[in-house]
Amino acid sequence: DHLINQIAAGEVVERPASALKELLENSLDAGATSISVDLAEGGSKLIRVADDGCGIAKDELALALARHATSKISSLEDLQRVRSLGFRGEGLASLASISDLVLTSRAHDASHAWRVEADNGRIGEPEPASLTTGTVIEARDLYFNVPARRKFLKTPATEFAHCEEAFKRIALSNPAVQWTLSHNGRAQWRLAPQSAQARAAALLGDAFGENALAIDETAATLRLSGFAGSPTESRAGRDAQYFFVNGRFVRDKVVAHAIREAYRDVLHLDRQPAYALYLELDPEAVDVNVHPTKTEVRFRDSQAIYRFVFHCLSKALASTSA
Ligand code: ADP
Ligand code: MG
Repeated sequence: DHLINQIAAGEVVERPASALKELLENSLDAGATSISVDLAEGGSKLIRVADDGCGIAKDELALALARHATSKISSLEDLQRVRSLGFRGEGLASLASISDLVLTSRAHDASHAWRVEADNGRIGEPEPASLTTGTVIEARDLYFNVPARRKFLKTPATEFAHCEEAFKRIALSNPAVQWTLSHNGRAQWRLAPQSAQARAAALLGDAFGENALAIDETAATLRLSGFAGSPTESRAGRDAQYFFVNGRFVRDKVVAHAIREAYRDVLHLDRQPAYALYLELDPEAVDVNVHPTKTEVRFRDSQAIYRFVFHCLSKALASTSA
């Protein structure tokens, strides 16, 4: 049973970056306004996430590490949010079964913090700890007990690149949150709370500077906001193409095609534009559970999405070339 857990966890926690994504989403769910990430050896040696969120009460610490322990579906509103972000209720349990994990947390009304340790899947007793606010999760030596998965890890540099990409996606869709990321003790990113455009410029560079095209369009239940790279920006934007659906990073061919066609149609430019765009729509109109760990969604009416995105981009591009 324990072995099955480990194998299952190895599938869920495909690589350090998948664990990091789960932890960052937990911190955001907890209402954190400041989140710090420390990684060592691409995350395989250490993933540490510290937040200033609501914390976890002593009695709930062990529960948080248990399988199917989600506390997140207690109202209809929650159900909607959970649906739109695709939670599964076993991120922490999975991580705990493939690492040495220490969870330290202080609930808002608690006089001090508590820590629990999960040692090879066994959850210890809570012990008093010191922490001024929020939650700290430290996962060490990922996959120490899952050699088959550890074998598939790439170099620390590559695993770090995946972690950094996961971090960027989440930081881009949460510009009001303060973030830091360090790797092997060296600061990589330090992001103050800022506007969406400033965040895009900080993370993705010049294409999102003052010449970027601002987009904010609504049609019926659809809203598209964000920024597309300046039409005068000559560099290809392939590495700066970010699209979010209800706050979640998504890779979608239909959307990518609509954006590219708009550039072709209006500017007669055939290239890979840079963009950071946020689509909001009724959660009922999109299926996010195509694959829980992947970045794909299925739109109920993908033609409508194509037309809307194409329309928004065309309109913004036409206004600059007029
Ligand atoms: P899920 O996020 O799907 O609920 P997880 O295994 O990721 O499942 O987390 C289990 C539970 O632990 C959460 O539902 C939440 O109550 C608690 N939790 C995890 N991380 C944090 C955090 N950073 N701050 C506060 N509570 C947390
Ligand atoms: Mg979670």
